[in-house]
Amino acid sequence: MLKDLFMGLSKNQFLNTAAKKYGLKLGAQNVVAGTNIAETIQSIKELNSHGIACTVDNLGEFVYKEEEATEAKEQILEVIEAIHENGVDAHISLKPTQLGLDIDYTFCLDNLREIVDRASRYDIHVNIDMEDYGHLQPSFDILDDLSREYDNVGTVIQAYFYNAQENLEKYKNYRLRIVKGAYKEPKEYAFQEKKEIDSNFIKLIEWHLLNGKFTSIATHDHHVINHVKKFVKAHNIPNNKFEFQMLYGFRRDMQLELAKEGYNFCTYVPFGKDWYGYFMRRLAERPQNLNLVVKQVFNKKTNTMIGLAAGAFVLGRMSKKKKGK
Ligand SMILES: Cc1cc2nc3c(=O)[nH]c(=O)nc-3n(C[C@H](O)[C@H](O)[C@H](O)COP(=O)(O)OP(=O)(O)OC[C@H]3O[C@@H](n4cnc5c(N)ncnc54)[C@H](O)[C@@H]3O)c2cc1C
Repeated sequence: MLKDLFMGLSKNQFLNTAAKKYGLKLGAQNVVAGTNIAETIQSIKELNSHGIACTVDNLGEFVYKEEEATEAKEQILEVIEAIHENGVDAHISLKPTQLGLDIDYTFCLDNLREIVDRASRYDIHVNIDMEDYGHLQPSFDILDDLSREYDNVGTVIQAYFYNAQENLEKYKNYRLRIVKGAYKEPKEYAFQEKKEIDSNFIKLIEWHLLNGKFTSIATHDHHVINHVKKFVKAHNIPNNKFEFQMLYGFRRDMQLELAKEGYNFCTYVPFGKDWYGYFMRRLAERPQNLNLVVKQVFNKKTNTMIGLAAGAFVLGRMSKKKKGK
């Protein structure tokens, strides 16, 4: 129920606009590294000082205007320049829908090509984040097109999809991030039960560790992390074949601990003003993540905003039901 609520809210345009207006005052600053590039570079330097690498995400998704997609591209190019100039240990994560996938495939591909080309000059990797099922195949197509020209590009395999193993095998020679999957997907394409998703997640990780190029294991789940630690030891898989990844602001102690233990660790560092959809998905995954907000900035405004959001969602659902949609 709560998962549905936050997933529904993640796509609410009105609240997205309101959230941008209120900046990060609603508490998202704990999971967003900065609103601009300078602040973000500072956050990266701080993480690097603990032996933690970063993957930087210019927040934003589901863009339907060319000028917005072009603006996002320019911003990412600036981030690449800033990574290079500051000599920080970081690469890029991006979402095709932010760069125009819903507008036109070739327009989006050209935007990504410019980004991957610039990054390749500085030997910076670019990860194509995976979004919902409707964008899965076009995103793989973009990867296919780009990898004819560049080798600094990789993507994500989402364990909740039935076809995850098939795609894993097809792309085994790429640097792959393996995740459980963050979107709400229908049972035609994806496992619905946590147990099934978790067991497929482990299966995919093991397969890619044994057969793939480089594996990024992206999870906050200590059961999975502990399992991987035992698995790599038992199979003599060296540390330079994989890394753990977590999101900025989540399980900070465990992030530091894993880096201290000598594992490669990479933090996913989102920045920018368009944090709303990203943050709502984090709440859908784990409503307790609200603690990250509540602890520091719980006040009347936050209460009201969440109340309004919940109300808007429930009313929206009721009116849709009445209309038989
Ligand atoms: C670096 C990174 C990149 C990602 N990229 C993508 C992407 O491109 N596409 C996509 O669809 N999804 C992506 N995701 C999201 C991912 O698919 C999952 O939705 C998300 O990570 C939640 O699943 P989980 O594996 O972290 O564990 P969950 O299933 O959420 O949690 C499992 C258990 O771990 C423990 N736990 C989890 N979080 C916490 C916490 N904060 N504090 C304490 N205990 C906790 C709890 O015991 C919980 O029951 C990414 C995730 C990460 C970390």
